[in-house]
Amino acid sequence: MAEIGHFIGGQHVAGTSGRSADVYNPATGEVEKTVALASVEEIRAAVANAKEAQAAWGATNPQRRARVFFKFVDLLNQNMDELAELLSREHGKTLDDAKGDVIRGLEVCEFVCGIPHLQKGEFTEGAGPGIDMFSMRQPVGIGAGITPFNFPAMIPMWMFAPAIACGNAFILKPSERDPSVPMRLAELMIEAGLPAGVLNVVNGDKVAVDALCDDPDIGAVSFVGSTPIAQYVYAQATAHGKRAQTFGGAKNHMIIMPDADLEQAADALIGAGYGSAGERCMAISVAVPVGEETANRLVDMLTPRVESLRVGPYTDEKADMGPVVTKEALTRIKGLVDRGVEEGAELVVDGRGFTMQGYENGNFMGGCLFDKVTPDMDIYKTEIFGPVLSVVRAKTYEEAIDLPMKHSYGNGTAIYTRDGDTARDFASRINIGMVGINVPIPVPLAYHSFGGWKSSSFGDLNQHGTDSIKFWTRTKTITARWPSGIKEGAEFSIPTMK
Ligand code: NAD
Repeated sequence: MAEIGHFIGGQHVAGTSGRSADVYNPATGEVEKTVALASVEEIRAAVANAKEAQAAWGATNPQRRARVFFKFVDLLNQNMDELAELLSREHGKTLDDAKGDVIRGLEVCEFVCGIPHLQKGEFTEGAGPGIDMFSMRQPVGIGAGITPFNFPAMIPMWMFAPAIACGNAFILKPSERDPSVPMRLAELMIEAGLPAGVLNVVNGDKVAVDALCDDPDIGAVSFVGSTPIAQYVYAQATAHGKRAQTFGGAKNHMIIMPDADLEQAADALIGAGYGSAGERCMAISVAVPVGEETANRLVDMLTPRVESLRVGPYTDEKADMGPVVTKEALTRIKGLVDRGVEEGAELVVDGRGFTMQGYENGNFMGGCLFDKVTPDMDIYKTEIFGPVLSVVRAKTYEEAIDLPMKHSYGNGTAIYTRDGDTARDFASRINIGMVGINVPIPVPLAYHSFGGWKSSSFGDLNQHGTDSIKFWTRTKTITARWPSGIKEGAEFSIPTMK
């Protein structure tokens, strides 16, 4: 059976720790590969390699760094079908959705093609007598990225593209569930002209993550995954003096006002709730219709749509959603649906019993729809991360907005309405990082920044957009005065520009 090792110094190297994990095809439930789990020593070796490569890469002019990304974008497009296949086979999502995963990463690579402009510093001539002041954005040195299973192409690229474009070397620790695409991306970066050692992929688990968080040569750590691990990585990395940005879980609400186009809202909820089997941090998992009539009509529209969702393996071009990632995830999601029933929510559509003919060992389940969910229920408080949508009925707009405001997560949210005043009020007051107005999954494009609030994000700089350039660089400010401007004698007071 093929074993995936690591990608260090521009080449594949076998793991030496003696530990590995199985990599499954979620549609068949079969182990297709194994992946090496790095030891502390393997992490240290990768970092040493990266350190050596970074010196020359950091001194490479920005237009040359940009050229690698121009070429890489071409290669991504040329290899799109192969990347999508590789991704779907380990993740389970449909091929179309897998291409979207690659494209949303590719767009950040396009964004960083502008690095000569993005990384420019500032200059003030004549800040004092004969004094000029300027600032530069220098790479942090070595960046580390730890990524989740649900976007194995997009999120690694969100991290390594800006980091590398800014002149850093990078160590990527992808999810051990679907490591093949990140390895392929590293190969393509070499093909695009990136010097060996600038981008390294080490596969692994907690051992690797801990080693990255305490390695003295790593300057910044970016993490995306579940909230408890995001909190842990933030604490570990910052305790070791590193800059950190860590992004966690979500429970995204969509408010549906009585004046909304309900057919549009129902379609949006189906795509945003069940696409990728609900395994998206920007999935809508809670629908909040305002008023009894809106709620009744919405549930009537959602029910047949959820019942007729086409579930299938990624090889089925017509499938709306695939299996969930692992057997453990399937058991956990079904367990939460059981819990919702125990708690008294009304299970309008029950997808627990679904089996996929010919794929009986796959991690398939049908879509589930709950109505009359209340904020005290576990299924409301917990991120289910599966194809389960909960309807929480609200009497008024104020009662509706209160729900996402009081929820512990703050990643994304949306409102469906035709009323500009309500939409504006919602966007202004809501304590959530990404807001959609008649847009169900408001993932900002590459040139804006992505990040949640509350327990969906720790640290103060977001992913991609100009925030990412700030995160992966340090500012240095220089004050310069040449001999002709210097007065005779020592100056004992703090310099001021009187
Ligand atoms: P996860 O937290 O289980 O794993 C994420 C990463 O952390 C993986 O690389 C994993 O190897 C590592 N890890 C796991 N356990 C660890 C431990 N005990 N110590 C150190 N490292 C550990 O998350 P997942 O299941 O891969 O991904 C799903 C989660 O990611 C969901 O909660 C989802 O909402 C979240 N997510 C958030 C965003 C965002 O931008 N906010 C985006 C995508 C996914």
